[in-house]
Amino acid sequence: MGNDCIFCKIVEGVIPSFKIYEDENTLAFMDINPVNPGHCLVVPKNHAPNLFESEPEDLANTMATVRKVARAVQQVAKPYGLNLLQANGAGAAQSVFHLHFHIIPRGRDDDLRMNWGLKSGNKDEIAALAAKIKAAVED
Ligand code: AMP
Ligand code: ZN
Repeated sequence: MGNDCIFCKIVEGVIPSFKIYEDENTLAFMDINPVNPGHCLVVPKNHAPNLFESEPEDLANTMATVRKVARAVQQVAKPYGLNLLQANGAGAAQSVFHLHFHIIPRGRDDDLRMNWGLKSGNKDEIAALAAKIKAAVED
């Protein structure tokens, strides 16, 4: 694992997160700076800094979880649309160097650009959505 990696610490439970789904190989949790309500992240438990250095099996497991969680987000947030985003390198605005996929519910006319600024979300609202999405994940 990456010693100073914040997502490894979330995987290990050393720092808290609003968990939505967890299995042997992957974890999904809410983004604490949601660009829209329901914005969440899916990571492989094994540390890899980016797509290029990921193991294909970890990536496959991660995508299976992305699908599962995206379906739950779709059901709960009922967004106008839903984007996936995955950044590689500072030049792509990657700020956490542990491979992750953003699941981003879209609002009608939300005018979201690819590299949005981070703004802290309301923790109670994030927690409430986390509980609903968690309950909507199907195995
Ligand atoms: P990226 O720019 O693709 O590297 O995105 C990193 C994302 O991680 C940002 O959307 C942050 O809001 C999010 N993030 C950073 N720290 C945490 C944390 N402790 N818990 C949840 N999300 C986080
Ligand atoms: Zn890591």
